[in-house]
Amino acid sequence: MRNYSFNAPRQIVFGWGRRQEIGPLAAEFGRRAFLVSGSRTLESRGVIDELVAHLQSAGVDVLGFMVASREPQVADVDQLVGEFRSLAPATDDLVIAVGGGSTIDLAKAAAALATNRQGKSVEDFLEGVGRGLKITAPPLPLIALPTTAGTGSEATKNSVISSNSENADAHDAAAPHRTAPYKKSLRSELMVPRLVVVDPELTVSVPPRTTAFTGMDAITQLIESYISRRAAPIPQSLCLHGLKLSIPALPVAVKDGSSREAREAMSHAALLSGMALANSGLGFAHGVAAALGVTCNVPHGLACAVMLPAALRVNREVSSRQLAELESLFDAGSSDVSVGRGSSPNVLAAADRFIARIDQLCAAVGIPTRLRDVGVPREQLDVLVPGSRGNSMSGNPRDVSDVELREILERLW
Ligand code: NAD
Repeated sequence: MRNYSFNAPRQIVFGWGRRQEIGPLAAEFGRRAFLVSGSRTLESRGVIDELVAHLQSAGVDVLGFMVASREPQVADVDQLVGEFRSLAPATDDLVIAVGGGSTIDLAKAAAALATNRQGKSVEDFLEGVGRGLKITAPPLPLIALPTTAGTGSEATKNSVISSNSENADAHDAAAPHRTAPYKKSLRSELMVPRLVVVDPELTVSVPPRTTAFTGMDAITQLIESYISRRAAPIPQSLCLHGLKLSIPALPVAVKDGSSREAREAMSHAALLSGMALANSGLGFAHGVAAALGVTCNVPHGLACAVMLPAALRVNREVSSRQLAELESLFDAGSSDVSVGRGSSPNVLAAADRFIARIDQLCAAVGIPTRLRDVGVPREQLDVLVPGSRGNSMSGNPRDVSDVELREILERLW
């Protein structure tokens, strides 16, 4: 067996309605909470006020930060960091993030930079585009309450930040790779949330389309981590469990958002997907999704979903055995293919059945099959190729050349 390391949140509290325990849980970390939220729906439903009341009754003072409901930009992070620093954060302060991946990522980055004061902007720390600055001081302790299911950001060590503006420093010798636009990660083992409270009831208000997109993000993460070239035993076992739960549950959650069973399955699968991706990396679909998000404004989950069938076909041969193993979760007749090596006709046939299963799932939850139908102009296809070359693509089981990637994008358009 290969050597591996495994990194995960220190404490996970999972269960319907368990947000009500936030007061005493947070009091373990500090006396003043910076509560970051982004969803107007949750605010109007009284969820934020309810959390504030629980915190105050446990003796935790709360300062609220309602942030923009969008995938975080460099300027959003810099602004929130400035607000945190102006409050002179001290050892009994903590950050609580309540929201989807966007809000959690924004709060996660701000919690890290509140205590890491080197550098002018979060951009200085971003992989591939920054000045290589590192998170060295422990961030403010972060408690994450995910309200989508989801990105799994509640369980990961990174924060995904975008920049859509042309960068004046593009030829800066100190940052030669800096280009714009981009979607890159701030990453450190120190950034994993200290406590995760996964209350699936918080996801009941997510509208059907967002339920479909975010759920497909979790499913894509589970599949890509399972077949990643950095795949490892613990993440793989999480992926199997997550996929067994989520593939049947997602269409139910999209159709009937109040289904407790489906919401619980999806929240749990999203959490597992976060732990998997943080330890195994991702692949082709997430690589291209970053470019689709920043270049064409495609929501992250939709971008992953529209690319997933193509990612499976790209890896069909090299990952046939793993894909056959995933099919055997649902199809007892495929279980005999999970032993042995290579791409025998039986293994390939089972892998193809899994790919067909994912095609059907995408159709059932309303994912378009063509890039033009998610708002990608044909003239942007060239730009998508270099934009896809981030950390995610490096986990793909096989290399995909620029020429092949451009051809795939053309076919999908
Ligand atoms: P999101 O956070 O952008 O939320 C989507 C929409 O749903 C927003 O309008 C939000 O306000 C709303 N919303 C959230 N919770 C709601 C609720 N309970 N009821 C009603 N509306 C609600 O979407 P997301 O897919 O969760 O997050 C996407 C971001 O996460 C992207 O920037 C992506 O790159 C990032 N991401 C991060 C990681 C990581 O490990 N850090 C992993 C995957 C994705």
